[in-house]
Amino acid sequence: MASSLAIFSSTLHHFRSSSSTTTTSTPSHKNPPHSRSSESSLINDLIHNFNSPYELRQLHAHVIKTNTCLSSTLSISRVASVCALTPSFSYAHKIFQQEGKSDSIVEWNSCLRAFAESDCPRDAIALLYQLRHHNVFPDAFTCSFVLKACTQLLDLSHGKIVHAIIEKLGLRSNIFLQNTLVLLYALCGAMDDASLLFEKMPKKDIVTWNIMITQLAKQKDVDLAYEVFLKMPERSVRSWTAMIAGFVQCGKPKDAISLFTEMEKVGMEPNEVTLVAVLAACADLGALDLGMRIHEQSDRNGYRKNVKICNTLIDMYIKCGCLEAAMRVFDGMDQQQRTVVSWSAMIHGLAMHGQAEKSLNLFSTMTQLRRIKPNSVTFIGLLHACSHMGLINEGRKFFASMTNDYGITPRIEHYGCMVDLFSRGGLLQEAHEFIKNMPIKPNSVIWGALLGGCKLHKNVELAEEVIKHLSELDPSNDGYYVVLSNIYADLKRWGDVARMRKMMRDVGVKKTPGWSSISVNGVVHEFSAGGDEGHPESEKIFEMWEEMLKIMKLKGYVPNTSVVLLDMEENEKVKVVCRHSEKLALVFGLMKTPNGGDPIRIMKNIRVCEDCHNAFKIISEIVDREIILGDRNRFHCFRQGLCSCHDYW
Ligand code: ZN
Ligand code: ZN
Repeated sequence: MASSLAIFSSTLHHFRSSSSTTTTSTPSHKNPPHSRSSESSLINDLIHNFNSPYELRQLHAHVIKTNTCLSSTLSISRVASVCALTPSFSYAHKIFQQEGKSDSIVEWNSCLRAFAESDCPRDAIALLYQLRHHNVFPDAFTCSFVLKACTQLLDLSHGKIVHAIIEKLGLRSNIFLQNTLVLLYALCGAMDDASLLFEKMPKKDIVTWNIMITQLAKQKDVDLAYEVFLKMPERSVRSWTAMIAGFVQCGKPKDAISLFTEMEKVGMEPNEVTLVAVLAACADLGALDLGMRIHEQSDRNGYRKNVKICNTLIDMYIKCGCLEAAMRVFDGMDQQQRTVVSWSAMIHGLAMHGQAEKSLNLFSTMTQLRRIKPNSVTFIGLLHACSHMGLINEGRKFFASMTNDYGITPRIEHYGCMVDLFSRGGLLQEAHEFIKNMPIKPNSVIWGALLGGCKLHKNVELAEEVIKHLSELDPSNDGYYVVLSNIYADLKRWGDVARMRKMMRDVGVKKTPGWSSISVNGVVHEFSAGGDEGHPESEKIFEMWEEMLKIMKLKGYVPNTSVVLLDMEENEKVKVVCRHSEKLALVFGLMKTPNGGDPIRIMKNIRVCEDCHNAFKIISEIVDREIILGDRNRFHCFRQGLCSCHDYW
């Protein structure tokens, strides 16, 4: 390589010296003298017009082979820019290192630009040093290209050098450069410096403000981002979008939606990115009505061709419990349009809704028919499908195939799915061994899955061992202690139940308050357990529940009070069970929507209890309506007295 470069270098020298004669000893027998001049003019022509590194190499080879004389110089910047588009970029880089002696800053800049936009932006930084070495003075363009490279590399130390150059050259009023600096500081985690620079900027444009909002939200400082947003002298659609997306990222979907409403009020037209953010907020909140409105709006605006919109729509419908609507969006996408994200969302959605078989079939279509490579998210969906249906052997196969066939390293979520699969299936010892042999440290989700299995299969010894790990990893989470005391209660070990209760009191463990939400006519109503405080229509809800209870009892319903851990009389326990938040939400939904109407959809923050699960099955038969309940783990679709989970959850 070195020798060929040396030859090239000398050839380039010919290019550059544009001398008319050469004295090399390689005679060219194949080229008769009379054709030489026309050929050299042809090559001269090519020097300015080659379009690919391949042509450059050919040209280079030809020049060496035929010993052609050139009257023109090879444009170094053209070499760089053409080669930067391809993996043979290093070829251009080497030419430059050998011959880069230009004193024209314009030529240097075009190389810097090509380098900054290549796969190896570090070369741009190296070139800056070379430029200084040759005593060429950088200008604003030089700074912008090197800053671009620094931003891509998150290289703040070189960024600071460029910052110093900018100050020295008196370019402080160059907004473009200042904006890039603010962005660089923020991206590198130096938010304070970014803010300081922002404050000191003599002039700001809308881009400056947008950068600050986006970056503050990314650093999870959404309140400060909102302060900045409020101070903006004028706002573009990007500003609104940055703020809405910021709220979503920081777990404030309600704020995102109210800001979107405000945006509509001021007459600002949302773009595709805005709609993606709002749809994500709808998914988090289960706000189906708004989600559907956004869907219509994106259809009207022709955004349906946007794959991100389609994928977010699928996700939104799945999280709102509308599997069919998600499937319609998926089916409506062009074959080429569907990405691995679309497929994975649908595979996971089917699994969450208890349709394991369809989920696995979709995976076969995706990989075998469409030849799309699954990613690690796809496998989470598949393993969920297996886990929810107790398909232990299939789960094992997928887990192995993930690494063996697709080279994907399992993440903690995948291990969690496997432990869940074994635990539910009653293979508690295998689950325990699996955890012990994990190459990563098990977290509380992993141990929690095993604890769930212990409860299901009434293994108190293992549960006691598991709770030791959980009380270290996640001491303030009540859920685990509740599960353990439930196991004791099932075995009628009341002494242990009391001991657990005392321990929870002593440690100061508080019960996670359960709440459920239901969206009626575009308004999300929230219900907390007990229901006494909160909803203005509590009394009516309680009355209707009593009516419903009478019919339910005729169908054989008996409230299951074993889910109540509190120390109280049996009839008090019945009252507690009857006022679980999802029951209140369901009665409210039945009150407020027409009989025989659309399915009722309820979201719940924690796992649904056995009693509510049973009650919902019976009610779905009585009212002859589909009821969809999304809890922390999955969706239950109740229809005609049965649940899509087949009571395996
Ligand atoms: Zn319940
Ligand atoms: Zn169910």
